[in-house]
Amino acid sequence: MTTLTRADWEQRAQNLKIEGRAFIHGEYTAAVSGATFDCISPVDGRLLGQVASCDAADAELAVQDARATFNSGVWSRLAPVARKEVMIRFAALLEKHAEELALLETLDMGKPISDSLSIDVPGAARSLSWSGEAIDKIYDEVAATPHNELGLVTREPIGVVAAIVPWNFPLLMSCWKLGPALSTGNSVILKPSEKSPLTAIRIAQLAIEAGIPAGVFNVLPGYGHTVGKALALHMDVDTLVFTGSTKIAKQLMVYAGESNMKRVWLEAGGKSPNIVFADAPDLQAAAESAAGAIAFNQGEVCTAGSRLLVERSIHDQFLPLVIEALKGWKPGNPLDPETNVGALVDTQQMNNVLSYIEAGHADGAKLVAGGKRTLQETGGTYVEPTIFDGVSNAMKIAREEIFGPVLAVITFDSVEEAVNIANDSPYGLAAAVWTSNLSKAHLTAKALRAGSVWINQYDGGDMTAPFGGFKQSGNGRDKSLHAFDKYTELKATWIKL
Ligand code: NAD
Repeated sequence: MTTLTRADWEQRAQNLKIEGRAFIHGEYTAAVSGATFDCISPVDGRLLGQVASCDAADAELAVQDARATFNSGVWSRLAPVARKEVMIRFAALLEKHAEELALLETLDMGKPISDSLSIDVPGAARSLSWSGEAIDKIYDEVAATPHNELGLVTREPIGVVAAIVPWNFPLLMSCWKLGPALSTGNSVILKPSEKSPLTAIRIAQLAIEAGIPAGVFNVLPGYGHTVGKALALHMDVDTLVFTGSTKIAKQLMVYAGESNMKRVWLEAGGKSPNIVFADAPDLQAAAESAAGAIAFNQGEVCTAGSRLLVERSIHDQFLPLVIEALKGWKPGNPLDPETNVGALVDTQQMNNVLSYIEAGHADGAKLVAGGKRTLQETGGTYVEPTIFDGVSNAMKIAREEIFGPVLAVITFDSVEEAVNIANDSPYGLAAAVWTSNLSKAHLTAKALRAGSVWINQYDGGDMTAPFGGFKQSGNGRDKSLHAFDKYTELKATWIKL
């Protein structure tokens, strides 16, 4: 953990060099059009710098470069053990530059510096090193062939990968894609969110320093409807991997259908239920976890525990514990190492969250904590962690992903009712269950339509386990060896002996 104070971070922020250009074939470059956009910090509204606003012309250059590099074999045909060593060096460079990357992430996106430093940067580095370490330990297959034939079942890199990522964990989501995509030998074009492009731009240079050949990893900052769309419609992009909203995920499937039927892998939104049964082993622990599940990262988490399902018999005992626990999550300056709730990513997102709070009131839910914008005097975009009680699953705040610190509390009377409410959602990303009854825990976990289920905890998991959604939360999986499927094609080769 850092010993740096808020004053130290402020000082470093003053001296920070901000690179906002695109990165193509190993060099920073302005957008072809010369266009840029302002990069504003949600911490206090300060202008961080100008960022290249790439469009279809830049996408064309980057795809051509990625294709040429892929075809040259300089990376795609390198021995797995050699790619492994580079990926491990790349991860080590992220660790070496951890404080700089954490500062960029916090200034750009508003999350607490302590989280950037302890979660985002190490998690990103681990994704690179874990995937790299795995790549020379995976074997292909020999089919059960007749005596005079040999059937080889092999995996090959797919070619040019476009990765489009969101703003809530900019570096981490980028590296969840980059780890397996690069380790398997592809050339990658990364398009970070226009709301938080800085760490993606910065690590492109670290990739070169690690030994990734120029052109294997290009970065195109810019808007979704310009450069993002151009990549998604490009005829020479083989695979599109995406993390972001369900709305845009659906659009990307259309783009793929309208162009070259590129593979599309989607990690989308969530509205995750956190189910607390009366026989939970520790109600205090469950309450503290429920508070963290909605306040961590300002609630801007795809797996935020945004629907708290509480068994009616313990509701009056449990809710005060959650309200009390949420008092420990207090918005403050993200550069202060003590802060655990930072700024929402921008004014648009803050207004979006505030409009959901209005919808909660309008639908008749009962506000029991928070509910307002705060720290206006800073010039930043902060909202109090908020709880609505008396929510029905039909209300807007229970159905739609808010992507902010707003918790909807829903009561239930039976296991069956809890499961029905939990599954009554277009999403299926994650769910949690709190009970001391082993059979109930397993049976409920099986009944839940979600890609991750946590028992007596919230948000468990690491690189060893796949992560992704059922239903409209997406397809495919990030993390673990399962992620490699997205970046490889399966080939059967039959040899007559
Ligand atoms: P978003 O869908 O608005 O944007 C995501 C990315 O898509 C951005 O880079 C954006 O520029 C780009 N984009 C937008 N329109 C595009 C278009 N027409 N063509 C191509 N690209 C386009 O999402 P967001 O607001 O950045 O992120 C929040 C969302 O991400 C939430 O829904 C959250 O649940 C989801 N998310 C999911 C996971 C997961 O693993 N399932 C993880 C983190 C975030």
